[in-house]
Amino acid sequence: MTQGAVEKASAGKAGTTPTDTKHVYFFGGGKADGNGRMKDVLGGKGAGLAEMTNAGLPVPPGFTIQTEACREYMRGALSPEVDVEMYTALERLEKLQGQKLGTGENPLLVSVRSGAKFSMPGMMDTILNLGLNDKAVEALAKRSNNPRFAYDSYRRLIQMFGDVVLDIEKKKFEHIFDTVKARENVKYDYELQPAALKEIIAEYKKLVRKETGKDFPQGPLDQLVQARDAVFRSWSNERAKTYRRINRIDDWLGTAVNVQAMVFGNLGENSGTGVGFTRNPATGEHIFFGEYLMNAQGEDVVSGVRTPLSISELERAMPLVYEQLRSITGKMEKHYRDMQDFEFTIQDGKLYMLQTRNGKRTGLAAVRVAIDMVREGLITQEEAVFRVEPNQLYDFLVPRLVEKGEKVEVLATGLPASPGAAVGQIVFTAEDAVKFHSNGAYQAIILVRGETTPEDIAGMEVAAGILTSRGGMTSHAAVVTRGMGKCCVAGAGDCTVDEAKKELRVKGHVYKQGDWISLDGTTGRVIDGKLKTLPAQPDDPDLVKFMSWVDPARRLKVWANADVPRDARQARLFGAEGIGLCRTEHMFFAEDRIEHMRTMILADNEKDRREALKKLLPMQRDDFEGLFKTMESLPVVIRLLDPPLHEFLPQREDLLVEISHLEDTKPRSPRLKELRPLLARVQELHEVNPMLGLRGCRLGIAFPEITEMQVRAIFEAAANVKNHGGEPHLEIMVPLIGSVEEMRNQTAIIRHVAEQVFKEKGVTVDYMVGTMIELPRAALTADQIAEEAEFFSFGTNDLTQTTFGISRDDINHFLPAYMKAGIFKQDPFATLDQAGVGLLVKMATAKGRNTRPTLKVGICGEHGGDPESVKFCHKIGLNYVSCSPFRLLTARLAAAQAALEEKLTGPNLHSNA
Ligand code: PEP
Ligand code: MG
Repeated sequence: MTQGAVEKASAGKAGTTPTDTKHVYFFGGGKADGNGRMKDVLGGKGAGLAEMTNAGLPVPPGFTIQTEACREYMRGALSPEVDVEMYTALERLEKLQGQKLGTGENPLLVSVRSGAKFSMPGMMDTILNLGLNDKAVEALAKRSNNPRFAYDSYRRLIQMFGDVVLDIEKKKFEHIFDTVKARENVKYDYELQPAALKEIIAEYKKLVRKETGKDFPQGPLDQLVQARDAVFRSWSNERAKTYRRINRIDDWLGTAVNVQAMVFGNLGENSGTGVGFTRNPATGEHIFFGEYLMNAQGEDVVSGVRTPLSISELERAMPLVYEQLRSITGKMEKHYRDMQDFEFTIQDGKLYMLQTRNGKRTGLAAVRVAIDMVREGLITQEEAVFRVEPNQLYDFLVPRLVEKGEKVEVLATGLPASPGAAVGQIVFTAEDAVKFHSNGAYQAIILVRGETTPEDIAGMEVAAGILTSRGGMTSHAAVVTRGMGKCCVAGAGDCTVDEAKKELRVKGHVYKQGDWISLDGTTGRVIDGKLKTLPAQPDDPDLVKFMSWVDPARRLKVWANADVPRDARQARLFGAEGIGLCRTEHMFFAEDRIEHMRTMILADNEKDRREALKKLLPMQRDDFEGLFKTMESLPVVIRLLDPPLHEFLPQREDLLVEISHLEDTKPRSPRLKELRPLLARVQELHEVNPMLGLRGCRLGIAFPEITEMQVRAIFEAAANVKNHGGEPHLEIMVPLIGSVEEMRNQTAIIRHVAEQVFKEKGVTVDYMVGTMIELPRAALTADQIAEEAEFFSFGTNDLTQTTFGISRDDINHFLPAYMKAGIFKQDPFATLDQAGVGLLVKMATAKGRNTRPTLKVGICGEHGGDPESVKFCHKIGLNYVSCSPFRLLTARLAAAQAALEEKLTGPNLHSNA
């Protein structure tokens, strides 16, 4: 590097002004300029390299061009100091290494890598072997005594540089490479001999000339500047932008660029490269874990072309290097106080550490590592609570797919509606699911539907998993399966489900009844064939211990949404402190009840309606008794009937088809006499917008006898349980209230029936009457509603639907477009929209408590099990969240983290939260 080059750079660029910012940070040869806390400036990788250098690890030296330079580049105002500082740092590196970039008998080669504050794996670009040119490659061949390695390094550089910097399509390089490989008749890349590699290099250079009109740059500094700028540009490529949108990373953060001396693991049999973890990332076991390959470069270890060796082999082959690696990674684990994921290279018997960072791990491993580290005195119990992501606790409650070593063909990706895994034979109707389950024909069943309806409940019950091609995160399939703890992939739009032909068509395959598929409800993947699964482990002693640290930390109570005693038992097992939502309509879909329900709906006068309701009353009473007994003295919130009545009747289209078939074939069939009035009633009840129609409290107001029957069943059940020594804690909830008048109407009925029952039974039971807040008008007039309601429970599924004016069942028609355009950062039905819907929740809570300071407030929409939403509920001072049983552990952990965060930072008084 000449003084001239520095001066040339110092002359600056038009339109830019010198700044005081330090743009380039050196690491190596003593203390680094930066340190591990400087992620904002140096990016994660740069900060890590500085920290490793400061800790005295054998890190190849280099320098980091900081993120501000990238921001300047994006603004079109890269300041001249960047070049000056870069050239100065390069000189220092050259001095330290005793080499010159791309020059001389022993040329220095460098890697140029991106590295943002947040890890964005594979999203941005990297260039290796930079500095090689026609001359340097000969020097490298001579010095390494390995021409094959030298020419291969050069052809890799031209290919990477061509793709990343010069924007030449990758496949054009691959075509040249594959043509020579085929002609030479070799299977693996490394079998290509120097002559063939030289020919490839010549062809690559011709391609560069043809595509860009210029030769591949031979000047090492020219290569360096172009590569740096290309890394800056890669911050704004489409895949990086998409990744940031999904992970909510600010577009203006920018990436740092790390320039580092290359070390080679492919210099011969005394060189190698590998990756590893200080503990097992799948189980958390405290064992050194990793893989490596001799005579190989980084990507060879992960590409699967050659089978890597277990790290324990290294102990045998190179005991000194192994000991050094163990000692370094052990020290780094103590230094960072967390499990490390590391990359290393051995060049001519000398160990270099390329990276060490906190390792990603499964939920099982996260809990195990957290507990072990507390035991080892590395972290405190409070810190341990933050070492597990709330959603990772699913891993203990649901089966998981075993994918390692298996051939996995992903057919489609839908919404991860209910986590866990299911492997089974497909059926297309609920009836078939029940049939093949009860006759034992199928070992495990996956019910595949366009979308599910309440009538599918029996089939869903026996299925191992559910796949739908339509529907969102709060669709029927999603809500019901989450309650059951059953895996569900919903809205997999690439799947065509032909229920009539009993065929599933996807990705060119046609699957028929009985064919095997695998579902991953945690990621939304639909996979071909029969993978193996690992069972759930809810009683794992590590989990029990971990939760014993979590619960004392939280303030928010965590309740469950459960409709039947079986779900309530499950909920208690997972730590529910009450039932926040019992959806009573689910009880009516059972086989022995739906007929009575239909008779009730078809009745055209009150008397007949009451007759039918009388038959339902003892069944509901039994259900409620079961719930009260299971929950003992814990609160049970029972919601009155909510869905529109037509949901209990057959579909209009099905009736039309059956009637016209009978009219053609058996015009005198008595069945026609049943079907015609049924169709007439279905048509009468038909609504254009059923979600905004005759449902919720409107049903109980239009047909007060429905409320009377349900309330009687509830109070009789409570009185019976109390008369047998129980202590039911009962709360009755009125759905879809929009005004205090509606509330008053229903409360009057409830209190009247309560008095009647208490008189008849000779016992009184304490109870509360409250409402769901799931309409904007209810939130806006919450102060009035609280005059009648003793508690509020936010039904944020409907509140999101009505606030946005978006159908909760149809959002996936445009959700992908909204996500892509950055309009939604996440599905508002999965994670609460804090700015809009959340504001209504916060405001209604304050208004309600203004009227009634003792008002108990909770949330029972699906957001009650979403970690971010749970944290919001903590911050705005709700009393509880209620979620499906299988999300209870997640909600408990999120609530504890929210409370501990508040302890650390103080309550957040000024933001919307
Ligand atoms: C809600 O709307 O948030 C709610 C819990 O009720 P449902 O999902 O039954 O409409
Ligand atoms: Mg609702």
